[in-house]
Amino acid sequence: MRWSFPVGRLFGIPIRVHYTFLLLLAFIWYVETTVLGAQAGLHSVIFWALIFVCVLLHELGHSLVAQSYGLTIASIILLPIGGVSQITEIPRDPIKEVAITVAGPVTNFLIAGVLLFFGKMIYPSLQFSEISLQSGSTIVDLFWANIMLGLFNIVPAYPMDGGRILRGIIAMRKEYVEATRLAADVGKLFAIGFIVVGFFYNWWLILIGIFVFSGASSEAEAAVLTSRLEKLPVSSLMITDFRTISPGEPLTAVVEKSLHTFQNDFPVVENGKFVGILTRSSVIESLHHHLHERRVGDIAKRNFPTILPEATAAEALTAMRSSGVTVAPVEQDGKLFGIITMEKLLEASDVLNDK
Ligand SMILES: [Zn+2]
Repeated sequence: MRWSFPVGRLFGIPIRVHYTFLLLLAFIWYVETTVLGAQAGLHSVIFWALIFVCVLLHELGHSLVAQSYGLTIASIILLPIGGVSQITEIPRDPIKEVAITVAGPVTNFLIAGVLLFFGKMIYPSLQFSEISLQSGSTIVDLFWANIMLGLFNIVPAYPMDGGRILRGIIAMRKEYVEATRLAADVGKLFAIGFIVVGFFYNWWLILIGIFVFSGASSEAEAAVLTSRLEKLPVSSLMITDFRTISPGEPLTAVVEKSLHTFQNDFPVVENGKFVGILTRSSVIESLHHHLHERRVGDIAKRNFPTILPEATAAEALTAMRSSGVTVAPVEQDGKLFGIITMEKLLEASDVLNDK
């Protein structure tokens, strides 16, 4: 994620902090120091830093359970509104997803339990009974902060933890995409509630409401798109009627060819084997730079994800997005079956969405 810097690694997971988080600490320090004095300012900054250590532990809870399922965690990022564990692939198994999600809030309740136990043991006079973040004791304040963090996260406002748990529970009975849509609708209702309540009581809730609303909308859309494309074989969308070109041909020959076809991209074939793709944009770029003397082989793209004929459109989309290409060959054992374009994939998902 942009605007974040690395602070180290835990269990092999890179930990990053968003720059706005430092802004938040600076803001708290400034306000508290101005209003209550230097000591109070320093105390507040330390307290908030400790809360974010708890947020980090919450994220580690998610990440370690995910790791135990063999998943990779790209990084954990700390933002002013909480943390994010970037798990490369969320499992479609509802039980695993619920286990990964539950681990976060459970971590906060565990921290609270540890604070209560050791707090009472070391300082028997400590009072934990009153809900407060300004009790005068950092241990009591942190205890309540963790109880609140745990409770707040299990509010079923998808994509917050509680909402993911709700999605997982619905997905045990209904289709994944339907479960996501239902959970997202509930999430949006909560988001509106957060914004309204936040308007009167705490502007922080407004920010969280906006974050939840946009997250629910985009995740529901992505789930619909993926599920539709999952049912579609790539072979039904690939272009099979196409002209090929050989690496030795001059670019002027490509221009000549493209005048007689709708085709934008040409598979480059040498001795009957697929070797690359010449995209329309690379031809235009080369001609624009007056490089008429260049040959097809000089500018053809050669690095492509291998998309097998039996792959689904969703797999093709994922592979193409992660390699940053807009066109890819559908091939197996050097035999070219067709070409698939991003345009075709998005077109298909649009057509399906309109139904
Ligand atoms: Zn969480």
